[in-house]
Amino acid sequence: MIAVAIDGPSGAGKSTIAREVARRLGYLYIDTGALYRSIGLYVLRQNQDPHLAEQVEKLLPEIDLTLCHEDGVQQVYLNGQNVSEEIRLPEVSMAASAVSAHPPVRQFLLALQRRLAAENNVIMDGRDIGTVILPDAKVKIFLTASAQRRAFRRWQELKEKGASDTYEQVLADVEQRDYNDSHREIAPLRQAPDAVLVDTTQLDLEASIDRVQQIIAEHLD
Ligand code: C5P
Repeated sequence: MIAVAIDGPSGAGKSTIAREVARRLGYLYIDTGALYRSIGLYVLRQNQDPHLAEQVEKLLPEIDLTLCHEDGVQQVYLNGQNVSEEIRLPEVSMAASAVSAHPPVRQFLLALQRRLAAENNVIMDGRDIGTVILPDAKVKIFLTASAQRRAFRRWQELKEKGASDTYEQVLADVEQRDYNDSHREIAPLRQAPDAVLVDTTQLDLEASIDRVQQIIAEHLD
């Protein structure tokens, strides 16, 4: 099986780019952020604090996550309920970032991610795919863009969905999550030494997709 790992900060365009490249190549696209988000959502639903490791750890045995693909679009089921929409809410983003810092949460999701990669040709996007989850991935890409650019893109997405967040709020959110993701002790966001860097600050979507596809093609030759 062939694995392509795409890591990088939130809002760099990883999911949009990875999904399209996966479609073109006939690979399965796995958005691992959805797994952390689902755990964050569950913790919020139980009125527990996502920052408190003990509270979160206690809930893990109650959580069953399943990923499936409907018309090529990943759907995530939390204890049998499709939560694919709900996990995109901004408060769930923050909860996901908080729970992802707890080692038992990362351990809980490790096996699931590895099994998906063992059974399918995958393009997997996340924060630690190339460094921790799939260190032997055939292709590793680190996809990034400036915080301002990433916040602007996310703000536009939210606006389209009718959300009233301001650009400044979204930027503060992006910066906070960047900080959390790169400063946590376990599996911090960092570029694997053998990953190819793609900076999409100045690239539009089409150019970013082509660049990623080109890197994959070079590595598979
Ligand atoms: O990619 P997305 O924004 O959906 O991820 C939500 C949160 O989950 C991130 O802020 C990050 O803290 C966490 N995450 C992670 N490792 C991954 C994917 C996501 O820690 N592989």
